This record gives sequence, structure tokens and C-alpha cells, in this order.
Amino acid sequence: MNQSKKCKHPACSCMPSDGKDCCSEWCKDAKNVTEIACQCQHPQCAGGKLKA
Ligand SMILES: [Zn+2]
Ligand SMILES: [Zn+2]
Repeated sequence: MNQSKKCKHPACSCMPSDGKDCCSEWCKDAKNVTEIACQCQHPQCAGGKLKA
């Protein structure tokens, strides 16, 4: 339960706003896809390191 506030996208490390499952619309759409890096474009996200 410790990570219940984390974005539901497995590659994303962002913290969604209260009451939301994902930090962005991109994560909400992609949360069931586990093979791709996060592309939420949040600078603090550790899941988007493949991007430039
Ligand atoms: Zn992210
Ligand atoms: Zn996210």
C-alpha cells in the first residue's frame, strides 16, 4: 500500500494529483503497456530516461 499514490504506469515514478491514478493523460492511456518507457514528459519522472 506504500505506493498507492504513485502513478499507475509501471515505468512512471511521478506522483499524480490527489484522486487521480495517473500523473498524465499519457500514463492513463498507456498504463497497461509495460514494454515502453514513460512519456509523460515530466522532468522528475525516472521512466522517461530514454528520451533526449
Ligand atoms: Zn512518467
Ligand atoms: Zn505517470
